Order: sequence, then C-alpha cells, then structure tokens
Amino acid sequence: MALSNYVERVYEHVVEKNPSEPEFHQAVKEVLDNLIPVFEKEPKFEKYKVLERITEPERTIIFRVPWVDDKGEIQVNRGFRVQFNSAIGPFKGGLRFHPSVNLGIIKFLGFEQTFKNSLTGIQMGGGKGGSDFDPKGKSDNEVMRFTQSFMTELFRYIGGRVDVPAGDIGVGARELGYLFGQWKKITQRFEPVLTGKAREWGGSLIRPEATGYGNVYFAAEMLKTRNEDFKDKIVSISGSGNVAQYATQKCIELGAKVVTLSDSSGFIYDPEGITTEKLNFVLDLKNVRRGRISEYAEKFGCEYHPGERPWKIPVKIALPCATQNELNGDEAKILVDNGIIAVSEGANMPSTLEATDIFLENKILFGPGKAANAGGVSTSGLEMAQNFSFVSWDRQQVDTELHKIMINIHKTVYDASVEYGEPGNYVLGANIAGFKKVANAMISQGHW
Ligand code: NDP
Repeated sequence: MALSNYVERVYEHVVEKNPSEPEFHQAVKEVLDNLIPVFEKEPKFEKYKVLERITEPERTIIFRVPWVDDKGEIQVNRGFRVQFNSAIGPFKGGLRFHPSVNLGIIKFLGFEQTFKNSLTGIQMGGGKGGSDFDPKGKSDNEVMRFTQSFMTELFRYIGGRVDVPAGDIGVGARELGYLFGQWKKITQRFEPVLTGKAREWGGSLIRPEATGYGNVYFAAEMLKTRNEDFKDKIVSISGSGNVAQYATQKCIELGAKVVTLSDSSGFIYDPEGITTEKLNFVLDLKNVRRGRISEYAEKFGCEYHPGERPWKIPVKIALPCATQNELNGDEAKILVDNGIIAVSEGANMPSTLEATDIFLENKILFGPGKAANAGGVSTSGLEMAQNFSFVSWDRQQVDTELHKIMINIHKTVYDASVEYGEPGNYVLGANIAGFKKVANAMISQGHW
C-alpha cells in the first residue's frame, strides 16, 4: 500500500532521526502503512500529531554495566530501558540479554509492545529493555554478578506502578530471580516490580507456558474461521526456548504433530513428531543443561540441519518462535508452495515485511506477533493483578483467563479488519485496533 502524505512525512522523519536502526524502521513502517485508512476517517489523529508522538519513546535510558568474570577480569556491557508509551498504563515489557541487542532492536520491541499491550485489554503501557550481554557459556555466578550490576542502575527507573519489566530472550527464571533479589536489596521493598517471577515469591502459574499456549489459542481461533483445527495437522516450530517449548506442548495436546525445533545453530526434523517424552528432553536440555538442539537429533536419531531454518519442511501450520526476521520472502514462498494454511508468530516480528506480504497476498491465515504472542504479557498482567490483591489463582483459573483473553484479542483484531474492509487481515486489524486505543488515550490526556 502506498503511504499517504502525513504517514510518509512521519516515516521519513523517523528514518532520518533514528539512523542505523533498521528493525525500528521496519516495525514503524508496518504499523504506519496500515494506519492510512484510520487517518482518512479520523483527521483528529493528524491534528494532534499523534504519529509524531507515538513514534518517539517517552524516555530512553542507556547505561554502563561493569562486572567481573570468573577469571577476575572486568567486563563492560551496555544496558537499555526504553519507556515507550504510558498512555494506558505503567510501562511494561521484557528484558532481552543477547549479543545482538542494540538501541534499534530495543526500540522496535518497545514500539510493538505498546500496541500489543493495548490489544490485551489490560492497563499496560509499552516498554522494553536489555543488554548485549550473552548469558550463553557464562557460569551462574557470572550471570548473577552481571544482573546485579544491571539492576544497580535500572532500579532507579522501575516500580510496580511505574515500569514493570519481565523476561525475554536470554532472561528466564534464573536471571529474573537475581534481578529481583538485587532490586529488593537496594529498595528494601517487596512489590511486583517484575513479572515472570518464580512461584514461591509471587509468580503466577501458567506464566511460563503463557506465550506458547496463547499463540496456539490464537492460531486455533484463526483456524476456526475456516472450519479447521490443530487435530492431525503437521506443524513446524522454530526456536527451542520458552515460547517454542510451550507452543509445542499445546500443539501435542490438541492432537497436532510438531516436526521441527531449532536454535541459533540449526534445526531438527523429526517426521515421527515430537512426543511429550521428547519434549521433556528438550526442556531439560535447554532449561537445565543449556545445551544445543543438535543433541535432540543424536538422542532420537532424526535429521539435524546445521545453519538452516525449518521453513523448507512441508507443513500445514508454522509457528515461528525464535527471533526477529527469521522467516524471509523466499522462505514464505516455499511455505505457500508447500500448502501452508496458517502462520502464527510466537516471536516478535519473525517475518520480514516481504514474507508478511506474501502470506497476505496468498490469503494464508497470518497472526502477527503483536496479537498472537500477547498471551505472555497478558498473563504478566494477571500476575500483577494477583500480586496487588495478595491472592494466587490455580492453574485452571489462570489458563481459563488466558484463553478468554486470546479469544478476545482475536475478536478485536478480526472485527477491526472487517471494519476497515479487509476481513481476515490480522496485520491490519491488530495495528489499527492496538493504535486507536493508545492514540485516543494520548489525545484525552493532553499534549505530552
Ligand atoms: P528464549 O531465550 O527462551 O529462546 C529463544 C530461542 O530462539 C532459542 O532457541 C534461541 O536459540 C533462538 N534464537 C535466539 N536468537 C536467535 C537468532 N538470532 N537466530 C536463530 N535463533 C535464535 O526466548 P523466548 O522463547 O522467551 O523468546 C522467543 C521470541 O518470543 C522472541 O522474539 C521474544 O521477543 C518473543 N516473545 C517472548 C515472550 C515470552 O513470554 N518469553 C512474550 C512475547 C514474545 P539459542 O539458544 O541458540 O540462542
């Protein structure tokens, strides 16, 4: 779609003002492209310069993170927290520890998070943070010293009603534990300043499962619109971390056959399907032993494709659950040629703009991350609700709430796609519905 004048002007300005941030430009372009019909219908958004404001984070914090490794050497990493938008609630979004982290990546994630959180129906603004620290190959003590140093700076900017970080790539139960311990030591307070906490100190049941489960719930809603479901479908999943693990578990539960998993070194192809027993091996491999997915192929005698991604394997449903831009236009064509019916993004922006266009042109059911993976942050919202009211719900209650939220997100997004004349275009629907709520809140709160 060609950009309208207003949208084009703002987009050019964003590119000029934020050089060397291609992922941020990509995320902004996708949202802005879809908003053109909104500006035509409702000129107030242009009058109040909402786009200019919404593409500029409220606050960007960059800080030094010095720490000492096991050899006694001083190491220095860079820490980030981008507080993108607090129009509808406290800033909320994960922390990513990965060597690829830079300002542009954190900004793209924070920008996406703003619209995602809006779609959940829970009062949460958008933010994201992290560091270029690589937890891979580090000892527990090194990870602890790094996270303590990271929090020694970050604590100034966060709080249960201010900004509530969570996990993301490279930040799981271990890292969140060390982060919270340090925050509590510095502030002498015990409040829900982080989500994804362990059960014993305020975590919610189902939070670890929530993003993966939620993605499958969203995909199931999309499939229903075409009288389809997961039963007996062949599914490919990328990644083998938190999101991939629980997406796999829910697919197995719904009777589908998951045949791939991956990590940054390659992918495994198990045509027999990943069973619960095999998945338990993956959970231990990735969460406890911190090994490589190639060990799955050695253990269960299936194919391992080093340095490759799983999209050439013929499947009916694909769930990209690893990282951004992990599925390009050529790979999207292969999936379409092989008869794919649905793609649901567990990761944030795993499909390139070209891949997304190919799925939409071919009328593939395509769930964009900001809707399809919103189950994680929604359950973080449920975790905060439990913490603030000093109660703790059982598994069934949290799972039921999560399922309801995903059904509602699907409906909100689908209804917006219908209202704007492209029924079933979930990219358009998610961007418009997510944007309008935040934009209206910004206008009603004055010029800030
Ligand atoms: P994890 O760190 O648990 O797992 C990440 C997985 O992706 C690993 O298998 C990792 O492999 C792989 N991966 C990471 N970077 C790359 C890369 N550059 N190329 C190929 N593979 C890579 O993270 P999560 O499962 O939590 O997150 C996965 C995605 O889901 C991210 O995009 C995240 O932003 C998104 N997300 C996560 C939510 C959550 O609740 N956890 C919520 C919403 C979205 P390796 O181990 O080799 O690095």
